[in-house]
Amino acid sequence: MRPAYASVDARALRHNLSQVRKLTGARVMAIVKANGYGHGLVWVAKTLTDADALGVASLEEGLELRAAGIAHEICLLEGFFDAAEIPVILRERLTPVIHERHQLEALRRVRSEDRCDVWIKVDTGMHRLGFEPADVPAVAAELGALPFVNRLGLLSHLACAEELASPVTMVQIEALRRLPLPGLRRSLANSAGIMGWPAAHADWVRPGIMLYGVSPLGRTRSAPAVLKPVMTLRSRLISVRYRKEGDAIGYGGDYRCGENMPVGVVGVGYGDGYPREFRGAVSVLVRGLRAPVIGRVSMDMLTVDLRGVADAQVGDEVILWGEGLPVEEVAEAAGTIPYRLLCGLTQRLPRRVCP
Ligand SMILES: *Cc1c(COP(=O)(O)O)cnc(C)c1O
Repeated sequence: MRPAYASVDARALRHNLSQVRKLTGARVMAIVKANGYGHGLVWVAKTLTDADALGVASLEEGLELRAAGIAHEICLLEGFFDAAEIPVILRERLTPVIHERHQLEALRRVRSEDRCDVWIKVDTGMHRLGFEPADVPAVAAELGALPFVNRLGLLSHLACAEELASPVTMVQIEALRRLPLPGLRRSLANSAGIMGWPAAHADWVRPGIMLYGVSPLGRTRSAPAVLKPVMTLRSRLISVRYRKEGDAIGYGGDYRCGENMPVGVVGVGYGDGYPREFRGAVSVLVRGLRAPVIGRVSMDMLTVDLRGVADAQVGDEVILWGEGLPVEEVAEAAGTIPYRLLCGLTQRLPRRVCP
């Protein structure tokens, strides 16, 4: 068996949820879309039994959860893409977000014994999905008149919450607060809203990335919550060799050894979802010590400079990110965001639960 896998830590996941509770006191819709940010959709849902609801991106994800016996309230963050999904949504007790006229019109044609809750998506400034605030009272009245619609809520999404100096977030908070629909539950904050903007907390918060132990506010700023990484990407040294001064390493011979030195080969590559393009230096951990990645990352392997790790041996565990090496740091060196790395792990990489 290849030695690469991602270990996922249930205690860390539950700890991060408890940090959300500590910060907000609001109801929590745990966001588990995109295969639980790469951690395993069903595993995340089963671990977060304490969440008040789960948020997914599609009916397919909602059905996967129901098929696994998950009884939580499940919110479809983009509602339905096709009217044919509506009977299934009702039967499976899913909660759609309605953001477009065509969805309203499809709902108006529905006759159903089953009832469902509905969130109305409000565009408070993200300019991606949602109704204009001025149109929301009419939309709420239309939806409220449908016999199968239970509770209504107002949901909006923050565009710039990671930028604590941006004026956009307060404008969005105010736009949601000003809607003259008392009694409707409201939700605005993603992870950055939860950690950076107490005024955005409202009735329901929707943490994603912070549940997985990644700060949306970046590595450098001090965070109000103590988050623990849930995923650690691991593999092993599959070869250790002494190379000579001048030896070129790997495809294209991009890296040339400046002296005689030990070089290790790690059994993980871009075929597993590890990034290939780096704009800065990046390291892995071997025996808890940093070993810089050198040469090009291959599909199944990468090479590391082992000069800093005395006695490194074939079989030694290697940590690519997670425990002791924040995924934020790897993402930064790769010129991307941690979300992308976590969601980008491929099918062939096994996930293993650590107890
Ligand atoms: C993905 C998503 C979230 C979670 O965002 P994070 O930045 O991961 O906390 C919240 N709300 C909506 C509508 C989303 O699509």
